[in-house]
Amino acid sequence: MKKKFMLIIVFVMIILIFIYNIIPKKIVNENLMIDLSSYSIEEAKKYADENNLKLEIDEIYTDDYQVGKIVKQNIEKDKKISKGDNLIITVCIGTLEDKKKKDIEVYNLYNVNELGRVPVMMYHGIHNKSNAETQYTGGNVDKDGYQRTAEAFRQDLEFYYNNNYRMIRLTDYIDGIIDVEIGKSPIIITFDDGLENNIKVLGLDEKDNLIIDPNCAIGILEEFKKKYPDYNVTATFFVNQSLFNQPKYNEKILNWLVDNGYDIGNHSASHPDFTKISIKETNYQIGSVYEQLNNIIPNKFVKIVALPYGSPYSKTHANFSYIMNSEYNNIQYETKAALRVGWESDYSPFSNDFDPTFIKRIRAYDNDGKEFDIQANFKNLENNRYISDGDKNKIVIKEKDLSKLNNTKNLEVVNY
Ligand SMILES: [Zn+2]
Repeated sequence: MKKKFMLIIVFVMIILIFIYNIIPKKIVNENLMIDLSSYSIEEAKKYADENNLKLEIDEIYTDDYQVGKIVKQNIEKDKKISKGDNLIITVCIGTLEDKKKKDIEVYNLYNVNELGRVPVMMYHGIHNKSNAETQYTGGNVDKDGYQRTAEAFRQDLEFYYNNNYRMIRLTDYIDGIIDVEIGKSPIIITFDDGLENNIKVLGLDEKDNLIIDPNCAIGILEEFKKKYPDYNVTATFFVNQSLFNQPKYNEKILNWLVDNGYDIGNHSASHPDFTKISIKETNYQIGSVYEQLNNIIPNKFVKIVALPYGSPYSKTHANFSYIMNSEYNNIQYETKAALRVGWESDYSPFSNDFDPTFIKRIRAYDNDGKEFDIQANFKNLENNRYISDGDKNKIVIKEKDLSKLNNTKNLEVVNY
């Protein structure tokens, strides 16, 4: 009896050892990744299905593999896999020559033209009014249209967006960093004079954050930032020594702007006509604003000057070089770009004709489609606007424009 019992114990133990050694191994084997390099895509799909893996297929063009071959898998062979894991396989879908052909098809489809022109919009004040409340054309608040209604500014922003313009920073434009989606065109928004209605502060909330008027320029820009996240809303504000004319909040405003993706530039201390002042006064007008900005937002402002009235009107004027490069209070300053007043779009930063020290702007005003108003300018742009290939590291131009190319900033150039 005892012997029989021992035999049963030994038999059970043998069974247990068998289960422990054989069956678990089989389960473990089933949960190890295999090498998919010899599989077809259909076989890989089936494998992912059977193992409850979430399959993602990346496609590449390469000359190193045959079309249809799986060239990479994110989970290495013999790595443990469990239900729900992401399996990413990379499949060769063509040769580099195929890729070139495909790219050119896409460039033609979007009419990509990275030597086309770029609108740099010039705004001043935004007034919380409707167009019907003004006695001037369209959204103009004054005779020359330097001041604009909030209604018109909203319409402008809708118009640019609907016409496939996307905002970029002025400083990026100057540096040739144009990061917009394929088929879209860059646009730059600027404001001169540091008017209160550019960023009108109504007070502070309980956390000491600025409460900004929803109908001032920034209020409206922020509204569009929420409405169209892919608009990449940004603008550059050019200030005088009175900053935004809100002494209680000026410093908070500058910090808020740079923290929220906007830029601050130099519009001179007191808005002189640069043809009517001395070199010493020129140094003060430019250098003191750089000094002031550096005290409040150190190294966070842009070294760009919007020339007051567009003065001194010509780069050969004696004062011009002191705007660009001089010293004030024993501190050297260097201006990387200067903006003029009016009247049309400027060149691609990759064009022979591009001169960052004398950039043209479009006055954002209405004149029934005449004399370089918004409507006239955007109509002209239809013939020759910058259209992106969607890759900021590549300059894509028409073959016929090759001789106009300059300043490639070491980026890859493709012509078609
Ligand atoms: Zn001005």
